[in-house]
This record gives sequence, structure tokens and C-alpha cells, in this order.
Amino acid sequence: MSEKLENLVRDLWIAIKEEGREVGDKELSPYDLEELEKAGYVRREGGRIVLTNEGERVGRKLVRLHRLTERLLSDVLGMEEEVYERVACRVEHLIPEELEEAVCTLLGHPRLCPHGKPIPPGGCCLSGKRYVETVVHPLTELEEGGSGRISYIYVENPQVMTRLMNLGLRPGRRVTVLKRFPAYIVQVGNTQVALDYEVASRIYVVSGPHH
Ligand SMILES: [Zn+2]
Ligand SMILES: [Zn+2]
Repeated sequence: MSEKLENLVRDLWIAIKEEGREVGDKELSPYDLEELEKAGYVRREGGRIVLTNEGERVGRKLVRLHRLTERLLSDVLGMEEEVYERVACRVEHLIPEELEEAVCTLLGHPRLCPHGKPIPPGGCCLSGKRYVETVVHPLTELEEGGSGRISYIYVENPQVMTRLMNLGLRPGRRVTVLKRFPAYIVQVGNTQVALDYEVASRIYVVSGPHH
């Protein structure tokens, strides 16, 4: 399948499955639509484009790879947004099946891309597999004195999220764990913040002095 066709399936999956939007068959060029039909990814229903089971499977997989790749490029390779957005669109097509779970595990099975969009989970996420060294960890896995750069925060409650942001806990900031018990005390910038275990376990950091 060509890169162009893959990107179309990916975008259709996002529109139809994630955003719950209806996509009319006039929204694609007749040529692209025909190619997608021939490949067995879509069919037409009334004036709408519908994903087949195979189209859904492939689209979801591509979304997963795209967002995992964004994480990889931004967290591990430290690329800027304008660069990783462009590069992710190319690189996602090059990740073979065997590498996908390793990349996901390396990143600590992230649930969100750097834009905050959900990453559809793979088998590795459900089993919590760890067959490669993970570079992104929950804050709770750092020792006292350990530090890292915040990669992402996965808190569903928007009030808790706002509180954390106001305290300076946001992606890109460096945090150091000062104390683990009875509560987590972390240093971010010049501020010391106390966190309960539940919240601390949802802050993911790239550890190591070079981050
Ligand atoms: Zn993204
Ligand atoms: Zn995973």
C-alpha cells in the first residue's frame, strides 16, 4: 500500500471513528476513492464513505503508529513540534510490526500523543510488556534524588490537570523527587510540590541526566 493511501485510511479513521463525523464520497478525489475501494478499505453507502473491517483495523493501526512516532521523535529524540509533525508522517510507514511494540514499550505505553490525542492501545499496552528498557517512566518509579523531564501527564480530571499546570508541572519541565513517603515531594523550578501517589503515578518522565 502506498504512503498516500495509508495516510488517507488514517485520516478517514480519525474522522469517522474518533470524531464520529460522516465523510461524504465527494470529499475524496474519485481516483483516491477507487483505489481505497480496490484495496478493500472502504465502501460507499448512500453518499457516504464507510470503512470496512479491514479499513478500520488498518486505520487504527496507522493512527497508533503515527502518534507513537510523534512521541518517539519528541521525547526520545527531542525534536521540535514543527519537525516531528513532518517527520512522523514519513516515519510511521517505515515501522515494521516487530518494532511497534518495542517502540511502545520503550515509551512506557503512552496513552496520549504530544498533541493530547489518544493513542489506540496495542497488545503490549494491555499486558504491560517490558522486554526492552523503558525510557519513559511514571514519576513514582524514580528514586529519591532522581530526576527527569516531564514527557506527558495523564490525568483525566481537568481540575487536577489545571492545578498541576499552575504548579509548573507540565511537559518539558524538569522535576526532581525529593521525598517519596508519606507523600511525594517534588521540586520543579524553584517550587516544591506535594503530590499523592495516584497523581504522581500519572506523570510520566524521561529519566536520566541528559534529559
Ligand atoms: Zn499528535
Ligand atoms: Zn504498548
